[in-house]
Amino acid sequence: MPQSQPVNSPPTDEAKPSLANCPILLNDGIKALLIDEDGSIENLDAFAALTRLKTKPHLVVHSVFTIDRLARFSSRNGNGLFTAAINVAHFDVLELFAFIHPTVFVRPSIGGLLDAMGIENPESLEEQAIKLHEVVGIMLNSCSPQQINKAGIRDPRQARQLAQAMHLAGWVWGAPILEQMGAEIFDRPDVAHDSTGVNIWARLPNWEEFAPRPPAGSLEVTAKEAQDLLAKFTGKGAEIREGQQKYAAEASKAFNARASDQHPHIVLGEAGTGIGKTFGYLAPALAWARKNDGRVQISTYTKALQRQIDQQLINLYPNIQSKQASTVIRKGRENYMCLLNFEEWAGKAIHQKGAQAVVAGLLARWGMTTLDGDMVGGDLPSWLLPLLTHRAQDGANRLSVNLTDTRGECIHGACPHYGKCYIEKSKRRANRAELVISNHALVMHNLAYDGFMKQHNSAKPELVQMVDGEEVEPQRPRIVFDEGHHLFDAADSCFAAHLTGLEMAELRRWLRGAETGTSGGRTRGLKSRLEELIYDDDSGMEALSDVLHNAMKLPAPRWNARLSENLTEGPAEAFLGVLRGQVYARAKANHSYDLEVDCYPLIDGVLEAADNLRDALTAIVMPLKALCNRLSRKLVDEAENLEPAQKAKLEAAITGIERRSIMQIPMWIEMLKQLEVSAKVIEVVGQYHPDFVDWFHIHRRFGKDFDVGMYRHYIDPSKPLAKYILSETDGALITSATLRDHVDDLTAIDNGIVKIGADDHDLLDWRSAESRTGASHLPMPAYRFSCDSPFDYAKNTDIIIIQDINRDNPEQVAAAMQALFIAAGGGGLGLFTAISRLRQTYDKLILPMSEQNIQLYAQHVDPLDIGTLIDMFRANKNSCLLGTDAVRDGVDVPGASLRLLVYDRVPWLRPSILERARKAEFGGNQYADMMTRFKLKQAFGRLIRRADDKGVFVMLDKRMPTRLQTAFPKDVTVHKIGLKEAVRLIAIKLDQNK
Ligand code: SF4
Repeated sequence: MPQSQPVNSPPTDEAKPSLANCPILLNDGIKALLIDEDGSIENLDAFAALTRLKTKPHLVVHSVFTIDRLARFSSRNGNGLFTAAINVAHFDVLELFAFIHPTVFVRPSIGGLLDAMGIENPESLEEQAIKLHEVVGIMLNSCSPQQINKAGIRDPRQARQLAQAMHLAGWVWGAPILEQMGAEIFDRPDVAHDSTGVNIWARLPNWEEFAPRPPAGSLEVTAKEAQDLLAKFTGKGAEIREGQQKYAAEASKAFNARASDQHPHIVLGEAGTGIGKTFGYLAPALAWARKNDGRVQISTYTKALQRQIDQQLINLYPNIQSKQASTVIRKGRENYMCLLNFEEWAGKAIHQKGAQAVVAGLLARWGMTTLDGDMVGGDLPSWLLPLLTHRAQDGANRLSVNLTDTRGECIHGACPHYGKCYIEKSKRRANRAELVISNHALVMHNLAYDGFMKQHNSAKPELVQMVDGEEVEPQRPRIVFDEGHHLFDAADSCFAAHLTGLEMAELRRWLRGAETGTSGGRTRGLKSRLEELIYDDDSGMEALSDVLHNAMKLPAPRWNARLSENLTEGPAEAFLGVLRGQVYARAKANHSYDLEVDCYPLIDGVLEAADNLRDALTAIVMPLKALCNRLSRKLVDEAENLEPAQKAKLEAAITGIERRSIMQIPMWIEMLKQLEVSAKVIEVVGQYHPDFVDWFHIHRRFGKDFDVGMYRHYIDPSKPLAKYILSETDGALITSATLRDHVDDLTAIDNGIVKIGADDHDLLDWRSAESRTGASHLPMPAYRFSCDSPFDYAKNTDIIIIQDINRDNPEQVAAAMQALFIAAGGGGLGLFTAISRLRQTYDKLILPMSEQNIQLYAQHVDPLDIGTLIDMFRANKNSCLLGTDAVRDGVDVPGASLRLLVYDRVPWLRPSILERARKAEFGGNQYADMMTRFKLKQAFGRLIRRADDKGVFVMLDKRMPTRLQTAFPKDVTVHKIGLKEAVRLIAIKLDQNK
């Protein structure tokens, strides 16, 4: 590597950091590995390692993770040493990587760096560490003028400008990069007069507009066409997988043409793990899109799963350009960087000393390279912000949130960066794509909006071809809902209404803009967004003025503090205050967690406060609707004279106002009205609404009230799912590995199926799938099919229910998990139903695991997001990961890295008012059992991802009822044994698989 001695160091550093012979310090479990200046290698305990790190710069990989881990296990003064060590300007190789390769995926570890750079990755940490200087050398070398026109650094001009600006801010890599580039290095800002390089809003290319897309054809896809395309994807000479062929043929039925207005083609397809479901549905989807010049939406549950599907698409297109032209990932706008937000923040941050400037610089590098500007689960490394901001995950998330358009304050055509905006660009790509990879929340949000608007006479004129920059579908969409078992939860969130302090304060802010601080620009609210459009329309201006005036009755800044002090102002805060009083009067005394109580009987004062709030909300919604009509009128009357940007701005304004004036506020008014009606009805019939369950709730964080309000959820969200989503499609395939529940004979008898036979069971199993996906609420039945998993679960897996552990004893749970993880030699995933128990167990496990050379990662403990932790767990087959029960959805770890899955206890539903109502609606305990079986089934499905995988599923809760065991494949042996026997069995079973 080049022995680069920085010519100049940041002026504030007393001990100038020097890259030449810089010692290397890497985290090694709870210890550290040190390679000193003289090349000597040493293992240090945490205290000794931190003592070194606080005194001088070291070459490290992810300084925050390294120092946090060491501080946690330092024998003395962990907190103090953390602060001292983190404040030293270390040479963090990941920061250099993010500068040189901003969008290249890398795990934040030395092994990850070696893999990402195609350098041989030895097993031992010591051998890996020795290569760190080589890694740095290759990256710096890519900045040299000789490399720039070859495979060197991208956009070298911006790189030079940023390196200079970041050097002035104290970034230790600035000088070595500039030196390697052969650039002059300035130490004083007054002489460094070039651009800082953060102005990506000026450098990015403009997106281009295209003519609206004509309606797609309606030709059907035959089974053979789907199978032929599938064969093309999987390649010549590939083994024909019968299950996958059958799946593709059956799935093609979702693409049939509608035969009647009432009859979308809904297909429920369960595909056992290993069928090859993704290609199985992509084949008919693409066959239909290409035959009809149409577009198919592939919807999945999480952003991580969107990315997984996108990665598989690489196999379907000859090159990356054709993939990018034909497919797009779409997410809610709150995921994308807003260039205007970035300009406002980064323009100042780049001139600050320290981390802010480094964040700004690295984000500017990423901003020029990113495919779509997606900051959450896109090509921005998820470890980057926590690393740079030197803060915990929450803090980093706040930063990314501030840079995205979370508050709906986009000013569209009036924005100087509209022509380069990532969100607008992504929408236009979606308009031309044949496959749009979306998520359930976004798909439902958009379809529900369309449905509501249809019912409530939207003010939007017919001539509008685009809504919020996105083409209005000229016909109903075709959708594949992957991970279809989550549709119920996604619909639950989509159709819920929360009348809370935060939501109302957010509405006030959206209407009136920021009322504290010195924020300007878009944060001035609706007035600044609309004034230019309606300044010559007296009626419009009057309506706007009424809206802004009446919005003052919503919670004002510091509403939460006033609530705690009983000093509320205005009708909204008064309502929240009295509601809070009811919650505290009736909730259980433990005030550390969220609190919720039934609405009825109401305490004195609630009805009066609800009445006043209702009047206040009505006084906002009326002028809002009038304003919307004025904007709509303008769009019609001046259609021929309006510039496209003005049109887009008007359309966006109408959409934004309608979302609030037709959907959000009327729903709140209805909830408040219901309080009065129900308070009377409930005295007579004991039930207040057949469709909804309402309750009062205080959301608490860190022992303080964070939000308070009234919640309303559908008892059965599959009803609106069927009405607003499924009915609005031409065809939908709902697919998953776990669509159906399976009950034992006793439960089947309870359900009134007296004669037990395979067909009867089948009927009952499908009933569970239909009820949770909305299919049972459609006028015509869904088409159903299933393809069994090709895996030999009986041979490759075992299930153990440990009998001699007290699940309520944290010592015993931790000891058991430790023994099991060690018996498996790592490759263990521990799932917990409570974060507190996860943390307790981590504290007890970390030392013994480290002594066995087993890396232990933990969600809610390590300062990395769960996606990054799973990447690290996947890459190190002898590591273990602790996570909450919900992690089971995102874990796709084929091979030996996941060979043991341990649940600390049965993942029952969390007892809540909502679940109580659902239990009553869906058959009492059978509903709770079904939901728990689904969780167990999904978790078990994580163990075996390939035919040769082996795995053991362990439950540390001996109280797991036998009736839940139907969640597992029927031939797998369930062992009810003690811990000692389990350890022996696991060691034998997994021996070949380590
Ligand atoms: S158009 Fe909207 S989202 Fe895009 S950069 Fe401008 S303000 Fe931000």
